[in-house]
Amino acid sequence: MRPSLLDPLFASASALPGVGPKTGKLLDRLLGEAERPARAIDLLLHIPFSSIDRRNRPKVAQAAIGAVSTLKVRVVEHRPPRAKGRNGPWRVLTEDETGDLTLVFFRANSGWIEKVLPVGETRWVSGLVELYDGFRQMVHPDRILDEAGLAALPPVEPVYGLTEGLFPRVMAKAAAAALARLPQLPEWLDAKFLRATDWESFGASLGRLHYPQMPRDLAPEEKFVARLAFDELLSHQLALRLVRLKMQVLHGRAQKSEGALAARIRAALPFDLTGDQKSAVAEIVADLSSEKRMLRLLQGDVGSGKTVVALLAMAHVIEAGRQTALMAPTEILARQHFATIAPLAGAAGLRAALMTGRDKAAERRATLEALANGALDIVVGTHALVQDDVAFARLGLAVIDEQHRFGVHQRLALGEKGEAVDVLAMTATPIPRTLALAFFGDMDLSTLREKPPGRQTIDTRAVNVERIDEVVAGLGRAIKAGARVYWVCPLVEGSEESDLAAAQDRAEDLRKFFGDRVGLVHGQMKGRDKDAAMDDFSCGATKILVATTVIEVGVNVPEATIMVIEHAERFGLAQLHQLRGRVGRGTGKSSCILIYAGPLNETAKARLEILRETEDGFRIAEEDLRLRGEGEVLGARQSGAPGFKIARLDLHADLLRAAREEAEKILEVDPEFLSERGQNLRLLLYIFERDQALKLLRAG
Ligand code: ADP
Ligand code: MG
Repeated sequence: MRPSLLDPLFASASALPGVGPKTGKLLDRLLGEAERPARAIDLLLHIPFSSIDRRNRPKVAQAAIGAVSTLKVRVVEHRPPRAKGRNGPWRVLTEDETGDLTLVFFRANSGWIEKVLPVGETRWVSGLVELYDGFRQMVHPDRILDEAGLAALPPVEPVYGLTEGLFPRVMAKAAAAALARLPQLPEWLDAKFLRATDWESFGASLGRLHYPQMPRDLAPEEKFVARLAFDELLSHQLALRLVRLKMQVLHGRAQKSEGALAARIRAALPFDLTGDQKSAVAEIVADLSSEKRMLRLLQGDVGSGKTVVALLAMAHVIEAGRQTALMAPTEILARQHFATIAPLAGAAGLRAALMTGRDKAAERRATLEALANGALDIVVGTHALVQDDVAFARLGLAVIDEQHRFGVHQRLALGEKGEAVDVLAMTATPIPRTLALAFFGDMDLSTLREKPPGRQTIDTRAVNVERIDEVVAGLGRAIKAGARVYWVCPLVEGSEESDLAAAQDRAEDLRKFFGDRVGLVHGQMKGRDKDAAMDDFSCGATKILVATTVIEVGVNVPEATIMVIEHAERFGLAQLHQLRGRVGRGTGKSSCILIYAGPLNETAKARLEILRETEDGFRIAEEDLRLRGEGEVLGARQSGAPGFKIARLDLHADLLRAAREEAEKILEVDPEFLSERGQNLRLLLYIFERDQALKLLRAG
């Protein structure tokens, strides 16, 4: 149970003083998750990414153009918009002894302007100074203050990431309210270490970030961010190590086989394994055969052939006399794995079944029984597999696909359905080595970098949205020639409904040209409808499948040769790469059309350029890291990856190393978190929500 000391931090943000229902909703959108509202802790850890320096107070003539200044001016004259229409701006002429400055207000409330800027009085105005027609102007000053107001103005104002409709001052107020709720916390870092780094306490560091004294205070390499980044990394490393310790305590069992079953499956394959597949299988078989408990991550780009590797691992375990399970994060993926596995398993005389949340009661009962009495060798499914009533006669291998989409708990839960179960995790998100270490800690790593032979390169083009008609015309020709097309619609900022609307509109548009050959699939569809839409596309009843990003992972329709991605500039590089991987799976020549709405900034340009240049997921991941920081590499928020809120792996690599060492030391000395410091570290794990790992202490 979470210590009650932390309760104020986990109360919802809308319960904070000064946060009304409207702001509460906006905060939920910005910082909440599907099933829970934004909380005080989310506000606290949503640290400002930059600041505005209000200490810059030059004379008007010296104010730099294009910079924020705080200027002391005398109000000379109000110039309301010309009577008719009243659409023009309201101007206020002001001056000091060096020059003049026009304040500009659009659609402003005149009563208010006249009140805050009385003619003849002196006021401080703070905002962006621009040059317009040769005159200095400030459009909508951020602040208009008298001397008393100026005295109360924070010298350096934090700038927060926001969402549409949430205003900076409202956000700052909410953050301040959350900070006021922060309880006095004991120190969990080692005193000597703290002295050596010259860091301040967790609370003091947070305080400084929300009330910066200097713009530099917010820099990721400065000590306030560093302290918090280290805390976050340490909590993550501790959690990883606890999982690892738990795995080692429950030591493994040598699962030995002659490889006869695997050989039968290989004989049934219409292709040879790639070199990388062979080495991955060898690494896995070595783990399985040893006494050690396997905890291995198989990473390989979309289409690199992970499923076959998993199946061969399963065959090894089945021959050793035990059962195997493969869990995927979505229904579609589970079905697809099953479609690949079932015929091959059948050819080798193995019994396999599919289990998802949508099975009929009778089906489910039959599968449960067959698992419990050992009649099934392989079960493929969704998280339906980890429900309480699922029991195996003798589970020996748990394969977890797209493992970063599951929580620590779900991941472990499948392995706990048997004794000494070996675990093979898979991910299609290629992760650079430095990150793999941070995210997967001590997992062993097998990598499929080589693509199966015969893969066509995908002709990738970026097209301005102004030329969308040409794209549609091109699709018409391609469809006539037998092509099948994915059309992916963009993520619309923060809202699933508008996401959906965009896809529906696009489908309707395309139906004007292509009639009922256009299908639609999106995240809010019922499972059965989703399957039906996928099936229609897969069998060719529809030729164009309009989709939101639900098709991101794993979907396999080899006949699809064209991928159109609308508003490509809104997607992360890794995501674009994954989407593109949906085509080029068959023998047909494939292409990917990235439709963008210009003008593109430098980063967006660089991203599209990289995609055109290469199809190597690892190279793309590395470039992505370079361009954007680690968040995007794993699509942190979207895919529920264990993203970091504060730590940046591109800048905090040293802290990561230090955190690993510290975690190791801590667990050597006090593996149960029983000492006084251990108790304090528990708080840390709760604060960064790695506390699921603490449950392992009791369970283990
Ligand atoms: P991943 O899960 O890594 O995205 P899959 O396992 O779904 O990839 O494999 C993609 C496709 O490639 C499948 O149709 C599979 O049968 C095929 N495939 C796998 N390995 C090879 C190989 N060595 N040679 C040719 N095709 C392969
Ligand atoms: Mg796969």
